[in-house]
Amino acid sequence: MPIYTGDKKPGNKPAPKKPSSKKSNAIRNLFFWAFIAVIIIAVSSLWQSGNSTHRLEEVPISDVIRRANEGEIARIEIVGQEVRVTPEGEDEPTQVSRKEAGSSIFEQGLNPDMAEVSVSEPSAVGDIIWSLLSIGLPILVIAGLFFFMIKQMNAGNNQAMGFGKANAKVYNDSKKVKFDDIAGNENAKQDLLEVVDFLKSPKKYEALGAKIPTGLLLAGDPGTGKTLMARAVAGEAGVPFFSISGSEFAEMFVGVGASRVRDLFSKARKNAPSIIFIDEIDAVAHKRDARGGAGREDEQTLNQILVEMDGFDGKTGVIVIAATNRIDMLDKALLRPGRFDRHINVQLPERKDREEILAVHFKNKPHAKIDLKSLAAKTTGLSGADLANIANEAAILTARDGKKEISNSEVVEAFEKVAIGPERKNKVMNEKERELTAYHEAGHAVVGFVLPDSDPVHKVTVIPRGRTGGVTWFLPPEDRSYKSIYEFKDIMARAMGGRIAEGLIYGPDAITTGAGSDLKHVADLARAMVIEEGMSKKLRNRVFPEVDSGWLGGKKYDYSETTAREIDEEVEQLTTEAAKRAEAVLKANLPALKTLADALLKQETLEESEVAAVLKGAKLPDTAKLH
Ligand code: ADP
Ligand code: ZN
Repeated sequence: MPIYTGDKKPGNKPAPKKPSSKKSNAIRNLFFWAFIAVIIIAVSSLWQSGNSTHRLEEVPISDVIRRANEGEIARIEIVGQEVRVTPEGEDEPTQVSRKEAGSSIFEQGLNPDMAEVSVSEPSAVGDIIWSLLSIGLPILVIAGLFFFMIKQMNAGNNQAMGFGKANAKVYNDSKKVKFDDIAGNENAKQDLLEVVDFLKSPKKYEALGAKIPTGLLLAGDPGTGKTLMARAVAGEAGVPFFSISGSEFAEMFVGVGASRVRDLFSKARKNAPSIIFIDEIDAVAHKRDARGGAGREDEQTLNQILVEMDGFDGKTGVIVIAATNRIDMLDKALLRPGRFDRHINVQLPERKDREEILAVHFKNKPHAKIDLKSLAAKTTGLSGADLANIANEAAILTARDGKKEISNSEVVEAFEKVAIGPERKNKVMNEKERELTAYHEAGHAVVGFVLPDSDPVHKVTVIPRGRTGGVTWFLPPEDRSYKSIYEFKDIMARAMGGRIAEGLIYGPDAITTGAGSDLKHVADLARAMVIEEGMSKKLRNRVFPEVDSGWLGGKKYDYSETTAREIDEEVEQLTTEAAKRAEAVLKANLPALKTLADALLKQETLEESEVAAVLKGAKLPDTAKLH
């Protein structure tokens, strides 16, 4: 059962979004071949079943008549000239024979009383369909294959033949985005205003011999408004906006990406002045050495982008804006002068910005007096997109309840839903599980409450939410940029608190799987401390840079095997220490743990002040102290 800490990742680093290009490309090609294989198998099995009589044993007609008259044959089906024979004891025809056209087998001496005989005309339509299918399908498959190969070759040869027309989205003017729609991010907006001016009055700059920038890179976490800003530039300047996403290129068959780029740029040039927006450019513009086997088509796409941009002569009037959340992973060729040489960082919003973003998104929704200030305070680490999502959820919840105005209670519920997942009041938990959950959450809360460098307990609940049985929330009283070792250690100890409480109350081996995500959290923090922050004892001040691990994904770091062993030891040491400190706190405060668990069972949810009231007088034992 997780504890909500109000930040997404240790050290407040942006959670890297892995570019999906290689993976999905490989998968796409795999799907294509699987599809071909399925068709071939389907055709051949159809062939066999359609010609099912071919698998039957051929026997002479005289033999059939003789055996029938001797009672050895159960059934005879005559279809046209074909005679299908089901011998006694069989369920289906196993033999086949032919009779002469125009003559009946009764005339040839078959005794009609000895076997069941059915006569039918061959179905002409069925035959025609069948022969069409058996000839047509293989041709279709072969033609399809041919088509596919040509498409690949053409795309590679810069000869698009109409494939690969960019399906770039052009936003029409009715949905014009303006800078007023973007809250916070003042620096980024300032830089972009300049671009708007270039687009509006290029002459002014040309007259002074200034070179108008062609490429602009927006770097920042997902959901921080990069797309929004690019659209606002187009909206403010009143120019058309063409957009495509790097991950869309990755969806394409080999080589099509390059021709899409060509098409996109030619459209933009025709409509100049205009904006081209390339989202998730990291998906095609990975560092070259980092590319796996599937790199070739990425490279074609990337090269095409570079060729197009190099072809701008300063009067083209097209400005290319690209967005990425992994600027460190970009191919350096992309960042050279004349290409994406202007970088604008877009950051996760600070408290003041969050309040403004919330205001923007509640502006057009009817609401009573709502407390956006305290919501902004609670939403550390959330992006603009998350905040927009909260506003939308609040509106949905209000409408669902048939109300006309959003009130604070819907806002709070929407926040909790977005941050952790919806309440599931109807989830059945038996009494025993409920009690265990209460002790588990109380364990987190007591440890967090007592340790000096943990954030305050904001809320504890045993109402199931998302995939969890209960939640303990810790929220920072203010935004912070840095974390100390003390804070890391207190967070790890309070995360351990759940499982340790279970063990203390029910016995060391009665612990449950409810602590799975807590332990993962502890492990992640411990590794981050040791590998990324240089905060362990033995490897103090050493960090191990992340290396791109190619298309199989997963984080990889650069260190030797000896170091790997030391890292493991340090992680182990930190984990053990966290468990020990949690245990020391809980053992010293067993009565408080029990009172809090009881209160949770009665009330289900306790707010900050209620927790503080119950835990007043809880003490920090010397064994749990760090300083
Ligand atoms: P990104 O491109 O950085 O992933 P988007 O521009 O797609 O993020 O943002 C998604 C949505 O989040 C926007 O459409 C907008 O509703 C909201 N949003 C993000 N940042 C802001 C902001 N600074 N001000 C107002 N809304 C924002
Ligand atoms: Zn837990």
